[in-house]
Amino acid sequence: MRYFIGNWKMFGEPKSIGILNKINKFVNSDKNNNKYKTIITPPFTLLENFSKLYKNKKTSIGSQNCYHKDPFSSNTGSISPYMIKSVGAKYTIIGHSDNRAEGDTSKILKDKVNFALKNKLKVIFCIGENKIQKSKKQTFNVLRRQISRVLDKKLNVNDIIVAYEPIWSIGTGKIPETGDLLKTTKFIKNVLTKIFRNKKIPSVLYGGSVDETNVSQFKNISEIDGFLIGGASKSSKKFIDIIKNYYR
Ligand code: PEP
Repeated sequence: MRYFIGNWKMFGEPKSIGILNKINKFVNSDKNNNKYKTIITPPFTLLENFSKLYKNKKTSIGSQNCYHKDPFSSNTGSISPYMIKSVGAKYTIIGHSDNRAEGDTSKILKDKVNFALKNKLKVIFCIGENKIQKSKKQTFNVLRRQISRVLDKKLNVNDIIVAYEPIWSIGTGKIPETGDLLKTTKFIKNVLTKIFRNKKIPSVLYGGSVDETNVSQFKNISEIDGFLIGGASKSSKKFIDIIKNYYR
């Protein structure tokens, strides 16, 4: 199963459901629709409405983040996994580089993952090195640390998706060289195999400037189980073209 996940970031208002409707209409009629799953993560403000409307549809709804305490606490402005689940969302992104930059440590992320799973949310766990770490050839060490400090063998692999998102690639139009991405994806899968100690490991996605023009460059890397798509997911046409061009 491949994944096409749209991260809307700070974008969307009630009428943006139209974007989702167009995407889901395409998915319903696509001959390849048994090969992939689509998920959209709108901002918290749209979560309840979108989740209700998409309760039984092919496209699922997730949040972009969650708080590391559960179910309620005194933290102004925070939303817990319990609250996200209570409005019907099925997934949550955890560890996006935007949130790591705002102070999410591995300890906090581990709590977020545990509370999300406890509330039966599936987790899209983001990892990725920054430009300096890449230039210092620290990518593998960084990724190993980010994974092993948060994920452990007690967790159910079916409820976790790992998204490799190099920070230097997010929103920049830059994507990794094919050979590098292949090596990195294999490395991540190796780390996960060691942690989970069995053949089944979480799916591993790529994210960072994926669009309808470059997605074909990823199709030969069969190790990549799908994509986390930011900017391009705000346009139904771009998101649909990404899926079309991937299977062309
Ligand atoms: C993201 O923010 O998760 C992302 C992948 O963004 P973009 O596709 O815009 O680089």
